[in-house]
Amino acid sequence: MRHCFILLAIVTLCSCASAGPVIVQDGEARAVIVTAEEPSESAKRAAGELQHFIELMSGAKLPVLPESAQMPAGHVRLLVGRSRLVQGVEIPSGNDKDVTREGFVLKTRGDSVLLAGNEDAGYRGTEYAVYELLERLGCRWYFPGEYGQVVPRSPTIQLPDLDVAERPSFAARNIWMSGWSDRTGDHDLWLVRNKGTLRGMFAFPGDGSIHRLAPMAKYGEKFPDIYAMMSNGKRQDASAQPHQIMLCTTNPKTVEVAAGSIVEHCRANPEANSYGFSASGDGAPRCYCRFCRAADHGIMTDSGLTPSISDAYFNFVNNVTHKVNEQFPDKYIVVLAYANRVRPPEGLDKPWSKNVIVQLARLRLSAVRPIGQEKDIFAGRHERTLKAWSRIARRMLIYDYGPHADLSRMPY
Ligand SMILES: [Zn+2]
Repeated sequence: MRHCFILLAIVTLCSCASAGPVIVQDGEARAVIVTAEEPSESAKRAAGELQHFIELMSGAKLPVLPESAQMPAGHVRLLVGRSRLVQGVEIPSGNDKDVTREGFVLKTRGDSVLLAGNEDAGYRGTEYAVYELLERLGCRWYFPGEYGQVVPRSPTIQLPDLDVAERPSFAARNIWMSGWSDRTGDHDLWLVRNKGTLRGMFAFPGDGSIHRLAPMAKYGEKFPDIYAMMSNGKRQDASAQPHQIMLCTTNPKTVEVAAGSIVEHCRANPEANSYGFSASGDGAPRCYCRFCRAADHGIMTDSGLTPSISDAYFNFVNNVTHKVNEQFPDKYIVVLAYANRVRPPEGLDKPWSKNVIVQLARLRLSAVRPIGQEKDIFAGRHERTLKAWSRIARRMLIYDYGPHADLSRMPY
């Protein structure tokens, strides 16, 4: 008997927790979507997506109305984004340089359901709130476009009772399909549907972008020694492809020119929280001058075949960041730990700046084995590298790869 009572209590609790308003009944709309009188572009998109997917699910097209409109009697109101109707409800807002104000809420209040989030500074909170609701109704977006879309069909849609407030654990969540992959649909839309962030949250350290710190056309003749010495003893010059240009990172003039270029960029883009750059991606970019070679301290990369330039390179990164921060103390510099500069530096001129964000590439790793698994030599090594970096860098980005590179190493 006691067991029966407990079971009954659980069933009762579950049914109470899930009982929310019915928004479509037998294919007939029982709800309206309500926005501010003049909704933001983000709120407009969110309302449109909600209307679109509810129609796909049920066949009923919910009207989108401004808050001042006459509401049909007995209909549920799906309040999308900020409006006068949601005053007093705590909705995330604002921004800071660490991008920590992201978030959204879903709340049921009588015959109203609030779906809203931070829309400031490029956040997509209200859109995420709508996608969260659609996910809870069974929608999924596994790949861009209709090909990867799962939308359950039902003539009646009852919402759960909602009291949700979410904030992400990671400020940046981006998936890049690279230029070589075929796309099945709109990549950015798919990313936002999965609550990913578009690249604008932090600057991206694009491969080979270091040449922008010292444009050859501007400085090539004036300061030829700020460019890398090649293995043949000659400096790179205007004949070099821009994305192949490397700088002589131990030359104090290089630090001055590079910091000056970033300061110029910061002045022209006051809203940007960061600036990203990287030496050329693959290969082993380095300067062969005696100062740079000495500054590498004879340390090799994990392969044991190529010199690691981490000491000279990240000393340069750190010095440039300190110099930029003299004028823009809050700006982040985002750089890649990649190729021959994966290891953290072992010696620096100055204390490591808290404003360097290191994006560590998960190179030569299985994407399906956990980091640190000793069965995989690369996984064990990567854990040690990640821990070493995390002792130095206050903020990090992880550059991970899809499993495609692993297929050649199957089975595990
Ligand atoms: Zn050099």
